[in-house]
Amino acid sequence: SIVVTGATGNLGRLVIEGLLAAQVPAGDIAAVVRDKSKAADLAERGIELRIADYNAPETLSGVFAAGERVLMISGSEVGQRVPQHRAIVDAASTANVALLAYTSILGGPDADFELAAEHNVTEQLILDSGLPYTFLRNGWYHENYTEHLAPVLEHGAVVASAGEGRVASASRADYAAAAVAVLTGEGHEGQVYELSGDVAWSFAEYAAEIAAQSGKDISYANVPAEQHLAVLTGAGLPEPLAAVLVDVDAGIARGRLARTTGELARLIGRPTTPMSEAIAAALEGLN
Ligand code: NDP
Repeated sequence: SIVVTGATGNLGRLVIEGLLAAQVPAGDIAAVVRDKSKAADLAERGIELRIADYNAPETLSGVFAAGERVLMISGSEVGQRVPQHRAIVDAASTANVALLAYTSILGGPDADFELAAEHNVTEQLILDSGLPYTFLRNGWYHENYTEHLAPVLEHGAVVASAGEGRVASASRADYAAAAVAVLTGEGHEGQVYELSGDVAWSFAEYAAEIAAQSGKDISYANVPAEQHLAVLTGAGLPEPLAAVLVDVDAGIARGRLARTTGELARLIGRPTTPMSEAIAAALEGLN
């Protein structure tokens, strides 16, 4: 079987759709989920559900079996992810899976911002396990930005603290397609893929594209880190998370998410989705 953790998340759902589209029989796919009720649609389609919570290591025992290919989708609880990921790696190791593919971060150890630290520790845990692995070092999703267009349109500003930094983002669907390619293909053991969009854009360009498509006056407000933090906490983000995001922008200013390697396009066999398409889809969704 091919086993996908985080299967009820945004990326996980796209991976499952991609596996089915690639003619993997539903009966050969297993979804690891913590909330069975969120996965009823998957079960209806014949996908096996395996219930586990990353925070409860005992629930992960028996979730994987020998010979299976596993996509371990990183957890979403920033700060909790090292023990969570250790529990998954331990379970995969005990089961002796055939492949452990992991959604890591673009640049790996070169990614020197706080959010990357848990990914780097996780990569090491996987290396130490001795399991056959593939690192899918994902760059940023377009959707990290385009899912937050409402306040941009309201205030006429893209607020960030990334300076002139560029972001080689791609759509979630692009990264999902890369995971599908690895899970269904051959020869990916021991490979480290630096996955990013074909084009690295600046925040000024991003603002200009939203302006062009919406017909509204929108500019990039490059603010100091403290002000950015205040804007994010003012919008309701918990302080620790806001601080992590401001730190990401400092990393972007240093060029850490700008690498255009072409590896994502190569893996998926087509160009990555342009940011303009993600903006168009998001604007459409707001109408
Ligand atoms: P989501 O938040 O949509 O999905 C996260 C998935 O992890 C969900 O299925 C969630 O389950 C599951 N999960 C979280 N905590 C636990 C837990 N304790 N036990 C079991 N399952 C758990 O994120 P995406 O799908 O968009 O992205 C996938 C991952 O990629 C994220 O978790 C994050 O690590 C990373 N990421 C990367 C970004 C990038 O730009 N490269 C941007 C954002 C995230 P449930 O459905 O029940 O909530």
